Amino acid sequence: MEIIKTKPTGSYYSDYENWSKQVSGTHIQTYSPKNVAELLNIVNWAWQNNYQVRVSGQQHNWSPLTIANGNNNSQIILIDMSKYLKNVTITKTGDSGTFTAQTGILMEALFTALEKKTLGYYAHPAPGDLTLGGVLAINGHGTCVPAKNEKLTEKGTWGTISNNIISLSAIVWDSTAECYTTKTFQRNDPEIAPFLACVGRTIIYEVTMQVPRNKRLRCQSFVDIPATELFAPKAQTGLRTFSHYLDQCGKAEAIWFPFTDKPWMKIWTESPSYPTVSKPVHSPYNYPFSDRVPVEISDLIKLINNGYPEKTPAMGNLQMSLVKTGLGATISGDLWGWSKDVLLYVKPDTLRVTANGYAIITKRDNIQPVLHDFMTKYEEMVEKYQKLNSWPMNGPIEVRVTGLDKPEDSIVSGAVAPALSAVRPVDEHPEWDVAIWLDILSMPDTPDANKFYNEMEQWIFAHFSGDYALTRVEWSKGWGYTDDAAWENNDVLNNIVPGSYKDWNESMAILNKYDPHQTFTSPFMRKLLKQR
Ligand SMILES: Cc1cc2nc3c(=O)[nH]c(=O)nc-3n(C[C@H](O)[C@H](O)[C@H](O)COP(=O)(O)OP(=O)(O)OC[C@H]3O[C@@H](n4cnc5c(N)ncnc54)[C@H](O)[C@@H]3O)c2cc1C
Repeated sequence: MEIIKTKPTGSYYSDYENWSKQVSGTHIQTYSPKNVAELLNIVNWAWQNNYQVRVSGQQHNWSPLTIANGNNNSQIILIDMSKYLKNVTITKTGDSGTFTAQTGILMEALFTALEKKTLGYYAHPAPGDLTLGGVLAINGHGTCVPAKNEKLTEKGTWGTISNNIISLSAIVWDSTAECYTTKTFQRNDPEIAPFLACVGRTIIYEVTMQVPRNKRLRCQSFVDIPATELFAPKAQTGLRTFSHYLDQCGKAEAIWFPFTDKPWMKIWTESPSYPTVSKPVHSPYNYPFSDRVPVEISDLIKLINNGYPEKTPAMGNLQMSLVKTGLGATISGDLWGWSKDVLLYVKPDTLRVTANGYAIITKRDNIQPVLHDFMTKYEEMVEKYQKLNSWPMNGPIEVRVTGLDKPEDSIVSGAVAPALSAVRPVDEHPEWDVAIWLDILSMPDTPDANKFYNEMEQWIFAHFSGDYALTRVEWSKGWGYTDDAAWENNDVLNNIVPGSYKDWNESMAILNKYDPHQTFTSPFMRKLLKQR
C-alpha cells in the first residue's frame, strides 16, 4: 500500500487507569474513530510508524493487557471505540433473534436495546459499563447451568458471552495488499476460533450474535445459610448446598466475606408471572448499599492500612452486616424483573478491589466437592496467616458456575469453539460440562496478599487437575503470582496457561498471521501470547 504521509488528525492525549488503579499511564495518544475507514487509516499509519495500537474499553480489566504499569507509552496509540462505534441493529426471528453491533457499545446500552425487542441474555457480567469488545476479549461470563430437566432456550447458551458469536469483523493484515484491512470470519471458519475470545490480540470491529427471547427472573437473596452447609462436601437431601440451588433454578452466586460464617447467596429463578411477594424492578443496580463505600468501611480501611491489620475480621463482619441491613432497608432481598434489571448489579462507584480468578472445568457432580475443597483450603490458609499476624485477604470470595462454550449451542452448523475461552470444552473429557468460577478479592497492595494468592494458585493448579478437573485462568483477573506480584510467574505464563489449551500454538499462529507486525500487542501480551 501507499505510505500514509501525514499523521491522521483527531488524536488527543488521555490517561489510562485500570480498575484497581494498579496499572496506569498518562498522556497517551488516543483516537476515537468515527468509522472503520478512519480506524484503518490510524492502524496503517501506526504500523508504518512503529506504533502499537490497543483498543481501550472502559479500562475495567485487572490484568495488564492494555498497557504495562509505569512504562513509556510514547509509541502507543489507544483506540476508544465507545464514543462513536456503538451502533446496533437487531433482527427478530420469531421469539429469538440476532443483532449486529459495533464493539464500542456498552453492555447496558446493548441490553436495553435488546430488551425493547423482548430479547436478552440470562447470564452475563455484573457491571453494565463494560464495552462489548472488552467483554468478548476475555469471554465475559455470568452464572448459569441448566436447572434439573431444563432445556436450552432457542438461541441460548450455557457458556460465556463469546459463545453467542455468529460472525465477527476484525482488523487484519492483508498480505496481498500489504496493509491492514477488515475481514469477516464466520463461526464455522476454523480461523475464527482464537478471535472469539481474543485476549486483546486483535481489534474486533463488529460482531453478529445470537440472542434468546428475554425472560423475567426472580432474584432472591439468602443470608442465613451457614457456609458449612452451602459448601458441604457433597449434595445431600435436606441440605441447602450450592448444588441444591443449581438443581433448583440453575443460576446462583455466593459472596462470602472473610471471617463471617454465612455468605450472601443469590439465586435467579425464571418467573414469567409476577410472584406477589417480590419487589418488581424496572432498572438495574438494585443494591445501592454495595455500590457506595460507607464511611464506617473507609474508616476501617484506614485503620487496617495504618498499623491495625488485625481489624480485618471486623471489616468482613461489617461488610456482611451492611449487606443484611441494606437488603432489608431497600427491600431488595426478593426482586423480580427483566433479565438485565436483576443481572446487572455492579456500579463503577463500588469498592475498588483486586481479585484473582480461575475457572475449574469439571463434571457437574463435582461442583460440591470442588467448592468444599477450595473453602477448606482457604480457611486453613487464612488461619495459618492469622497465626503470624498476617491478614492478606480482606475482601470476599465469589463463586459462580456456568456451562462450557460448546459449539453445539451455536445456531451455525459446523461452528467451532472459542479456542482461547477459559471454558472451552476439554476434548479428552467430554463428560466435563461445568466451569466453577472462583475469585478471592482483596484491597490493592494489602501486605502478603500476593504471597497468599501465589500459595493458593499453586494449590489450585495442583489440586484441580488430572481426571478430577482442569484449571484455567480468568483472563481479566489476577493470576500468575509470585510472592511479590501478579502476572509475573514465568512457569504459569510459559507452561501452565498455554498447557491448559489444546492447539495453543495453532491459535497463536492464526493471530500472528493476521497481525505479523505485532501491531496489536502490549508488553504483557508479547510475554504471554506466543508460540511455545
Ligand atoms: C467491578 C468489576 C466487576 C466485573 N464483573 C465481571 C463479571 O461479572 N463477569 C466477567 O466475566 N467479568 C467481569 N469483570 C471483568 C470485565 O468483564 C473485563 O475486565 C472486561 O474486559 C472489561 O471491559 P472493558 O470495556 O473495561 O475493557 P478494557 O479493560 O478496556 O479492555 C480489556 C481488554 O479487552 C481488549 N478489547 C477491548 N475492546 C476490544 C475490541 N473491540 N477488540 C479487541 N480487543 C478489545 C482490550 O484491548 C484489553 O486487552 C468485572 C470487572 C470489574 C472491574
